[in-house]
Amino acid sequence: MQKQKLYVNGERLKATIETFADFGRTANNGVTRLSLTEEDVKARHYFRACCEELGMTVKVDDMGNMYATLAGTENAPPIVMGSHLDSVKKGGRFDGVLGVISGLEVVRTLVDHGIKPRIPVTVMNFTNEEGARFEPSMMASGVLSGKFDKSVMLSKRDADGVTFDEALNASGYAGEAGNRIKEATAYLELHIEQGPVLEKEQLKIGVVDCVVGMVCYEIEVTGQSNHAGTTPMGLRKDALFAATDLIAELRGKLGDLDGELVFTMGRLNVYPNIHTVIPNKVVFTVEARHKNEDVIREVEKILLGLPGQQGGCEIKRTKLWSRDTVWFDPSIVGAVEAAAQSYGYPYKKMASGAGHDAQFVASFLPSAMIFVPSVNGQSHCEEEFTPYEDCEKGVNVLLETVLSLLG
Ligand SMILES: [Zn+2]
Repeated sequence: MQKQKLYVNGERLKATIETFADFGRTANNGVTRLSLTEEDVKARHYFRACCEELGMTVKVDDMGNMYATLAGTENAPPIVMGSHLDSVKKGGRFDGVLGVISGLEVVRTLVDHGIKPRIPVTVMNFTNEEGARFEPSMMASGVLSGKFDKSVMLSKRDADGVTFDEALNASGYAGEAGNRIKEATAYLELHIEQGPVLEKEQLKIGVVDCVVGMVCYEIEVTGQSNHAGTTPMGLRKDALFAATDLIAELRGKLGDLDGELVFTMGRLNVYPNIHTVIPNKVVFTVEARHKNEDVIREVEKILLGLPGQQGGCEIKRTKLWSRDTVWFDPSIVGAVEAAAQSYGYPYKKMASGAGHDAQFVASFLPSAMIFVPSVNGQSHCEEEFTPYEDCEKGVNVLLETVLSLLG
């Protein structure tokens, strides 16, 4: 049966985004809402109140994750929408919170139209996605998916020495392990792109089919320190010059590999870092991301193929870590794509280069993500912005995806 096309309420959506931004709003219109702080707790209380007003039941699990559920006429695994209410320090008013607000707006739209869903619809808030107060990021979804050990996570401390466990208990959001989500018809996370691609290509929707895999190596170059004035150039073992040669070589080789490969040498330490002393050691990282594991293997081949010596210096490679590409559920991705098409919004299928709760959730729930554009690709900063009408389009796609899954 062909259903009447529904649209969310854009004005209400905008007002809700701005209301949530008040919980930790910064002087430059950004947000500081670190996990389980007073600001986060205020946002949680408000989220709970909004959901209860709609007749939803709110539960909390032992990691502080919140589940607001609109009952279905049948008892079946819920359709879950969600993301995170926490932010980084001086972050934006869209990252994470938009995914929670989107879920809320979808339920409000269902209620507006008197739609009683066949199966339950749940809106989720994941605790501590950012890892800005307690490392690591995606902490709670990591525990839910079995990637992280709960007791280790509870003992993580913030900069003031407060443990996650203490902060969770103080927040009033320490719930029951029995409330953890174990099954769902789908998990849908709407998020800002946090990159420039959609805006640059004048697209409104990203149908996200995977979170890219990555690999990170540390390269250590060991030379010899000596006097900067008395040692002739030909008799030096300068670790920094050897390292910069390697960096230039790697940049060329990795750059030639694949157009979609992104790589970063984000950390470089020079020892002893004194202007009158020839550097005896340089340590730098090479991190690369691509959805295709073959390309990642090529990256590793290049790194492992580096010479053992260069410019009289020893070169050592250490693999720090890697992560495989997480592919989302093809049928849920297909439902998102069909929803974008049904509104005629310009969209593309794309990979997420950033990590999200959905990548952990995908290991035990059929999942997909929806991206909306980020102005200038900026995120994790006060300038982070997505035009409200673009947010609205994204939430329409989320709504239509939920309706199609409800059948
Ligand atoms: Zn986020």
